[in-house]
Amino acid sequence: MLEAHLKEIIRDIPDFPQPGIIFKDITPVLKDQALCSQIVDAFVDRLGHMEIDVIAGIESRGFLFGMMLANRLNVPFIPIRKQGKLPFKTISESYKLEYGQATIEVHEDAFPAGTKVLLHDDLLATGGTVVAASKLIQKLGGTIAGYSFVISLDFLNSQGRLTRFSEDIISLVR
Ligand code: 5GP
Repeated sequence: MLEAHLKEIIRDIPDFPQPGIIFKDITPVLKDQALCSQIVDAFVDRLGHMEIDVIAGIESRGFLFGMMLANRLNVPFIPIRKQGKLPFKTISESYKLEYGQATIEVHEDAFPAGTKVLLHDDLLATGGTVVAASKLIQKLGGTIAGYSFVISLDFLNSQGRLTRFSEDIISLVR
């Protein structure tokens, strides 16, 4: 089964990027092209019921499967990036981290108002990043069609933070 296989391959890295954090490293997954295809197939299966006009992926690991999925679904891909990285005019949204804050941005012409956006990232932890990304989508007049993650850390109970934007939350590994 895909979930069990992924759990075997995703590596736990203790004390990265800071002491006390156990980081889920997906790079071993990226080395296995058959597995990457299975991941995209699994997303396509589970997203089948959603109406999706574009996929927005969050820097940087959200670009990996986000772009592959957009290509497979034949829809545009929109990068959401950390502050100062996007070259054209942007809108931004700041959010709290455990220590300090972060800002993410999207191009102001990323998509027209009324667009249904699937938000994709590799991993859902506290939900802070994807809530900020959801607000960016809404500022541009878009609606959230749903969310897709390779991994969600369900013990953090963050899915409840997303349901006010969309109830459709897919993750391949819980
Ligand atoms: P959140 O905002 O939900 O707390 O954190 C999720 C964001 O941080 C995602 O953009 C994700 O890429 C990154 N992230 C946090 N922890 C991990 C982790 O253990 N592994 C990976 N691959 N990404 C993480």
